[in-house]
Amino acid sequence: MSIKNNLLNIKSSLPEHVTLVAVSKTKPVTDLMEAYNAGQRIFGENKIQEMTEKWEQMPKDIQWHMIGHVQTNKVKFMAEYVSLIHGVDSLKLLHEINRQAQKHNRVIDCLLQIHIAEEETKFGLDENELNEILNFVQNNEEGFKNIRIVGLMGMATFTDNQEQIKKEFLHLKSIFDANQNLKSEICNLKSLSMGMSGDYKLAIECGSTMIRVGSSIFGGR
Ligand SMILES: *Cc1c(COP(=O)(O)O)cnc(C)c1O
Repeated sequence: MSIKNNLLNIKSSLPEHVTLVAVSKTKPVTDLMEAYNAGQRIFGENKIQEMTEKWEQMPKDIQWHMIGHVQTNKVKFMAEYVSLIHGVDSLKLLHEINRQAQKHNRVIDCLLQIHIAEEETKFGLDENELNEILNFVQNNEEGFKNIRIVGLMGMATFTDNQEQIKKEFLHLKSIFDANQNLKSEICNLKSLSMGMSGDYKLAIECGSTMIRVGSSIFGGR
C-alpha cells in the first residue's frame, strides 16, 4: 500500500483523543511529502541533524517532534523550531532546553521519559527520579519559564509477549494518572506518548493519547 493509504487507514481507526506522530526517521523528504500531502502535519525524528535538514526543506506548518535520546550539547540545533521533545530524562537536559528556548524567545514543550521496559538499555526515569524532577521544577519555576512539561513518554520491552507489554503500558498510565493533580503553568501532564507500529492498538487501550508510528506508515527501515 502507498504511504497515503497507510496513513489514512491508521488515522481513520484512531479515537479522537489520540494524536498520531508519523515517525519518518531515515526516510527521504519525498516520502514525508507524500504523508504531508495526505494531511499529516506532525512528524517524529530521532536524530537532531536529520530532523533539522528536513525542517529546512519542508513546509513550515509542520510540527517536529524529537523522539530520540537527546544529547545536551545538541539542543541548540533544534531550539528554534522543535515543537515537542519526547525523551527528556534529566534536569540537566531541561535546564539546557530552557536556556536554548529562551534565546529564541520560545516555550518548548517536553515529555519526561519513564523507564518501563525490562531492558537495561532503554533510557528513562524511574518514579522517584520523576518525582524529584517535578518537585524541583515546581519549586524553581523562575528558572524554567521557557519550558513546559506536558506529559510522559515510554517504550515497552521489545517482545511478542502482549501481557508483558500491557503490564508496562498500564504501569506508565498509573504514573501518569498519579500526577494529574499537577496543574501549574509549567507542569501539566496532558499527553501520554506510548505505542509504536507493533503495539499502538494495545497502547491506546491502556490509555495512550499520542502514538509514534513509523514502519506501518512509511514501510520498513
Ligand atoms: C523508531 C521509533 C518509533 C517508531 O517505530 P515503528 O516500529 O517503526 O513504528 C517510535 N518511537 C521511537 C522512540 C522510535 O525510535
